[in-house]
Amino acid sequence: MRLDRQFQQHKAAILTLCEEVFSHGRVLQGPEVTALEKQLAIAMGTQHAIAVGSATDALFFALISAGMQPGDRVAVPAMTFIATVSPVIRAGGTPVFVDAGIDYQPDITKTVQLVETGSVEAVVMAHLYGQMFDITPLAEACKSNNVLLIEDAAQAIGATLNESKPGEKSAAAILSFDPMKIAGAFGSGGAVVTNDSQIRKRVNRLRYHGRDENRTYQELGYNSQMASIQAAIVEFKIQHLDEWTKRRQQIARLYKSELETVSNIILPREISGSNHVFHKFVINAGDKRNRLRDHLKQAGIETMIHYGSSLDSEPLFSKYVTARSSFTKAERISREAISLPIYPELTDLEVSYICEQITNFKW
Ligand SMILES: *Cc1c(COP(=O)(O)O)cnc(C)c1O
Repeated sequence: MRLDRQFQQHKAAILTLCEEVFSHGRVLQGPEVTALEKQLAIAMGTQHAIAVGSATDALFFALISAGMQPGDRVAVPAMTFIATVSPVIRAGGTPVFVDAGIDYQPDITKTVQLVETGSVEAVVMAHLYGQMFDITPLAEACKSNNVLLIEDAAQAIGATLNESKPGEKSAAAILSFDPMKIAGAFGSGGAVVTNDSQIRKRVNRLRYHGRDENRTYQELGYNSQMASIQAAIVEFKIQHLDEWTKRRQQIARLYKSELETVSNIILPREISGSNHVFHKFVINAGDKRNRLRDHLKQAGIETMIHYGSSLDSEPLFSKYVTARSSFTKAERISREAISLPIYPELTDLEVSYICEQITNFKW
């Protein structure tokens, strides 16, 4: 990602926003935060959106606000960013890792089994790389077994599946405005979106020292406020989201058409009915992944690995993994997946150059 290019293009607008916030002086929880919350609720089609300091905090607050209790077992994907899992432990829960299933999605069948056999009290599912996957069977199983479901949509703002959006079929979804995300702040930020007014009320309290609307401290809370300047910048970026998403989708199509004939890679698959926003463009390069990455680096192309380890193999989480569990698919992704550059300011010429380098690579 090249945030410097985006700033160059929108410098005047962004600096005007800075000037506005610095002039009125309400730099934390200012009017821009309230405006962003309104905008997010509309964009996500939920009744409420609550801005907080990060998506990591958003997930932690969402879990406890939706009734997760210390000691609860919580199904989580093994192949995801660490922040899908760490808030579960912070809330006193025990993560139950689930292997990847089809493509890069968590194994829904296995997760449904955990729900139906009473093996978990809650589930956190992540929509990775900009694509929403179908959680309908999981949402139904959770509902009939009274199991809490939260969606990690940190990478899926703007993604839809058959008109459905994250937050519709679960208690809450969380969003991230980390600078590397598609609507990134120039700092940290996150949000909870939900249709549940009790969750909204509790997250509102938790983000600022447990204080309610009457300024009474109802419980021990945290300090997880969003800066007004970040809210203003995210609001500006969400206004551009459709246009930027179209450009990323165009780039994805270009990659796909130019790389179609390279038999050694697997291109990202788009689920039918899905609007994939291509937060990331992840290909599978098999056991040549690291060599391909070096080759691209030599050619001046920076790539990323999402993610270099399946979370079950992280020492931090080893105590939650039982000898019986297997994570072969997640581990395979960690060895074989590579993310190519994708951001709206990437030019067609640059995409062609990247594809040329991949095509010329001696497999
Ligand atoms: C980025 C990310 C998070 C955490 O977001 P922050 O705002 O950085 O706390 C959580 N889950 C996933 C899948 C992410 O990609």
